[in-house]
Amino acid sequence: MTAQFDIKSYPGNIINGKFVSTQATRHSIDPATGEALYEVPVASKDALDAAVGHARDAFKTWSKTSFGERAKLVLRWADAIEANKDELGKLLTTEQGKPIDLANTEVGLTVQWLRTFATLELKDEVLDDNEERTIYLTRVPIGVCGAIVPWNWPVLLGLGKVGPALLTGNTIIMKPSPFTPYCDLKLGELAMGIFPPGVFQVLSGDDSLGPWMTEHPGIDMITFTGSIETGKRVAASCAKTLKRYVLELGGNDAAIVCEDVDIPKCLPKITMMAFLNSGQICMCAKRIYVHEKIYDEFRDAMVEFTKNHVKTGGGFEPGVVVGPVQNAMQFKFVKDMYADVDKYGWTAALQGKARDDSKGYFIEPAIIDNPPDDSRIVVEEPFGPIVPLLKWSGEDEVIDRANGLKTGLGASVWAKDLERAERMARRLSAGSVWVNSHFDVAPNVPFGGHKESGIGVEWGIEGMKKFTNTTSLWVWKKVFA
Ligand code: NAD
Repeated sequence: MTAQFDIKSYPGNIINGKFVSTQATRHSIDPATGEALYEVPVASKDALDAAVGHARDAFKTWSKTSFGERAKLVLRWADAIEANKDELGKLLTTEQGKPIDLANTEVGLTVQWLRTFATLELKDEVLDDNEERTIYLTRVPIGVCGAIVPWNWPVLLGLGKVGPALLTGNTIIMKPSPFTPYCDLKLGELAMGIFPPGVFQVLSGDDSLGPWMTEHPGIDMITFTGSIETGKRVAASCAKTLKRYVLELGGNDAAIVCEDVDIPKCLPKITMMAFLNSGQICMCAKRIYVHEKIYDEFRDAMVEFTKNHVKTGGGFEPGVVVGPVQNAMQFKFVKDMYADVDKYGWTAALQGKARDDSKGYFIEPAIIDNPPDDSRIVVEEPFGPIVPLLKWSGEDEVIDRANGLKTGLGASVWAKDLERAERMARRLSAGSVWVNSHFDVAPNVPFGGHKESGIGVEWGIEGMKKFTNTTSLWVWKKVFA
């Protein structure tokens, strides 16, 4: 099927159902080649004001539509995305760097997510009902939302915000990361003929646009995914207008491997969960605690597996797992982390290195052998293909270490003894905890972080609720009887 859009053409931001061009344009970089990609709009403050005005107008009617009507349009959008999935997958690899299979998976999951969201209706609850009175808990949309999207999963994480916002009766303006604006603009283009003007708009901009959105008095809620540092700025800015917000922030997930596991059965998954998307996933396994009885065997097997099965290269090369790091800033950050290996005398079980002979941001996986608990590679989120293995011996001790950071996004326990694994899992402070898996997500399951990994949740019924205010509605029936 021919795509319904031209991947090279970005005529404007999507405002009130039309393309609106901007005076300034900019482009992002293909992380695999270092070459400039296509020109995209740069929204001005006036453009944001106009979009907010249209979103406020559109809210008046959209918020009155039924869930069924909204769901019908969201499902049509899911169909349009599915019909263009191949082009979107290629565009995603081009702009983000991830291997094409993973890009196609991201697009496919997004379609599945929208279709599931379209079944998650928030119904009134009856809190009390007697002859005198009925008390309802009813949920009303908040108003105009702003979605601020990161560069690591721009399609799934973008629409993971937009779908629930629309289905609960809000209007929404999506701002892609300046590093990955392309797919998000095309998703807006596909939505143009589906939703009424002003209901869903997309603004591509530079670094000023996010702060303008969080400050804007006409935006009622911000749904944000990104780093902890930026999340704190978003919260501070939202406080000035008492905007609602949901923050999905960074993680530094612990995976705890017990001594009774079959190493060949769990090692491939744990290794992939460390290096998938070049380690640029908020819920990658970023600290792998292995019981001392099996530590050496596990480490050696992980090094072998990584050498043989975790190929680094361009996202369109067959068999690649580790694509380029997404941008120059992140590349520098990750290279700095690699430089710390020598600087602090850590032992590298697998050395890994940046490919300085390429214009792309390629860096091969590294495995650090039992560094001190207070080293940067353990304490900070690297967001690159480098992971520490850490030795443990006692259950209490390893739980304390796993819980010892300010992050709490995901965590996992790997063990044959399920009773023990579940007991340990229940003691981990994280928004998602898995036994014998890592990084499972689903559209009907809420997802969020404890501690500095976030505030609120996305997805599932609990995530839908975050896009609403509650109204307690008291109906007295006998006053005029
Ligand atoms: P980032 O914080 O640099 O940027 C995220 C978004 O915020 C971008 O769209 C950016 O333009 C915008 N932004 C930047 N400064 C802003 C400001 N002052 N006000 C408003 N908006 C602003 O994050 P990133 O580098 O794009 O993403 C990587 C980080 O995101 C990692 O820490 C990762 O763990 C985290 N992340 C978290 C989740 C989650 O669901 N918890 C998912 C993916 C990524």
